[in-house]
Amino acid sequence: MLKIDNLHASVEDKAILRGINLEIKAGEVHAIMGPNGSGKSTLASVIAGKEEYEVTAGSIQFNEEIIDELAAEERAHKGVFLSFQYPVEIPGVSVTNFIKTAINATRKAKGLEDMPAKDMLKMIREKSELLEIDRKFLSRSINEGFSGGEKKRNEIFQMAMLEPKLAILDETDSGLDIDALRIVANGVNKLKSKDNAVLIITHYQRLLDYIVPDFVHVLHNGRIVKSGGKELAHELEEKGYDWVKEEAEAGQ
Ligand code: ADP
Ligand code: MG
Ligand code: MG
Repeated sequence: MLKIDNLHASVEDKAILRGINLEIKAGEVHAIMGPNGSGKSTLASVIAGKEEYEVTAGSIQFNEEIIDELAAEERAHKGVFLSFQYPVEIPGVSVTNFIKTAINATRKAKGLEDMPAKDMLKMIREKSELLEIDRKFLSRSINEGFSGGEKKRNEIFQMAMLEPKLAILDETDSGLDIDALRIVANGVNKLKSKDNAVLIITHYQRLLDYIVPDFVHVLHNGRIVKSGGKELAHELEEKGYDWVKEEAEAGQ
């Protein structure tokens, strides 16, 4: 599904990613871990196509198509979802109306008519029941006064409704209390299937107690310096990142 080949990327002329190779197949859950500043969020942003980031070498293929030159919106329409794309408060726009607009925009880009209101309501009902989201929440203004957990709930709801092929969740340091962790983990576990893939970015091993990844990769200085199975996350929790950095530097 996703094939990243020797990816180099920079922001404001500063090289951040220095040769990333990563392949994600449908049905897989991958975790990217690594110390602060190693380039995790940059990788997420580059895959999603955020404008500030420039690919200087290598390529990103999504379903056999090179997507490096596509705008973020076009990538989203092809099924790439990045959490926290809409962190702003939008007074007067409810969680439900926001997602209706997003879904119809995606359909329009594919040349489809708006989703019939009846189908939309059915989908909203099914997904909100699956994720145990109550009706009151759906009518609240987006992000207005949301707690950390509510922001997560909204993100996971967006993910459920948009049914992305590749969901990238960048779990930044803020707002990840135990409730928020559970919301993210339950959501991902309920939504994952053999047809989609998930890339979770975190430096918290704890999240990976709830979402069990098939592969764990450690990013350091803009490169994946170690990959393994879920046991690697436990090893990192026990021993920290220093040994991985040392190994990487010794191998260079
Ligand atoms: P991580 O998510 O692993 O903590 P980031 O990808 O956020 O790491 O950052 C990697 C490096 O890139 C850091 O040195 C950071 O300062 C720099 N960086 C990331 N985004 C920007 C930006 N928009 N402008 C300038 N520097 C950036
Ligand atoms: Mg950071
Ligand atoms: Mg980050």
